[in-house]
Amino acid sequence: MSEKDESGTPITFSKEEASRIREAFAKHSEHLICPRCGGAMKAGGPVAGGGSIAPVHEIRCDACAASVLASAGR
Ligand SMILES: [Zn+2]
Repeated sequence: MSEKDESGTPITFSKEEASRIREAFAKHSEHLICPRCGGAMKAGGPVAGGGSIAPVHEIRCDACAASVLASAGR
C-alpha cells in the first residue's frame, strides 16, 4: 500500500480499518480507538442522514487527523 502524507491531503482508513471503526461506533459511540495511531477518536455532529435515514457522523482522530464516515444506525 502506498500512502501519501503531504500536508493538506486527507488521511483515510483502509476498508478494513473503517469497517472496524463503524462497527465500534454502532455498538458504543464512545471510546473509539484509532487503528492507525491508537489515539482517541471523536464523533462529530451528523453530516448527513436524518428522517428515516440513520444519521451519518464523521469520526475523526485528533492525533493523526484521519477521519471516516460512520452511521449511528445498526
Ligand atoms: Zn489516529
